[in-house]
Amino acid sequence: MSLKGKTAVITGSNSGIGLGIAHELARAGADIVLNSFTDADEDHQLAADMATEHGVTVRYIQADMSKGDQCRALIEKAGSCDILVNNAGIQHVAPIDEFPVAKWDAIIAINLSSAFHTTAAALPMMRKAGWGRVVNISSAHGLTASPFKSAYIAAKHGVIGLTKTTALETAEQPITANAICPGYVLTPLVEAQIPDTMEKYGMGRDEVIKKVMLERQPSREFATVEQLGGTTVFLCSDAAAQITGTTISVDGGWTAL
Ligand code: NAD
Repeated sequence: MSLKGKTAVITGSNSGIGLGIAHELARAGADIVLNSFTDADEDHQLAADMATEHGVTVRYIQADMSKGDQCRALIEKAGSCDILVNNAGIQHVAPIDEFPVAKWDAIIAINLSSAFHTTAAALPMMRKAGWGRVVNISSAHGLTASPFKSAYIAAKHGVIGLTKTTALETAEQPITANAICPGYVLTPLVEAQIPDTMEKYGMGRDEVIKKVMLERQPSREFATVEQLGGTTVFLCSDAAAQITGTTISVDGGWTAL
């Protein structure tokens, strides 16, 4: 599968799943636009290193996905957008009646509304190019719920609704829109929680991973950023041309329970 000549914009891609997806799309030949809200030397170095590793063009464009105008500006600055991966996301955990309003607003803005803005800006480019792929990173929490994650779960369910509508509005064009629903993925964010959890439960690393973190994931294995990248590349392939408006779970059986 070659994505040579295609430009992929991945929001929130200077770490974790977004970075993993960017690597796999670059490995498949796509030119890459990396993004986050920071504008550090490391962000631009990440882009330079990825370009060298895969022999493709990689740019880093700073844009805050909590701001609608910056979401749209990201796509405009990219200049073309054949593949749009809406990945940027944050989390906050609290009961509904104690949930800080500012956290609710930020999660809805970054995890849901950003995908509306980037999609609105990218679809005209995809229609003009005569080809496009929208890949929205939802979650197992886009299909199921857990307590204390109201904003995240509302946003991730919303992303699936947006995905279906995008698919219907592009169904007669060579454009698809799908959502990937990961279970637990060992990103730096998750890795950082392991030492504290080991201390809290008096358990070793493997026990914490299997009995605490992966309690709801029947495989008792993390999904990897490479697997999510591979799933994204598949959705960009010709084999997936008739897959649109649906979800693909990469969750070790979580949503089969
Ligand atoms: P992460 O914290 O490593 O990555 C989040 C990315 O979003 C980072 O690059 C960060 O810089 C970026 N970001 C945050 N706020 C932003 C903003 N305002 N503007 C632009 N970029 C911003 O976390 P991750 O685990 O890689 O999560 C990536 C996506 O995958 C999220 O949407 C998350 O909800 C989803 N997800 C993660 C898991 C998991 O277990 N890690 C499971 C299911 C879904």
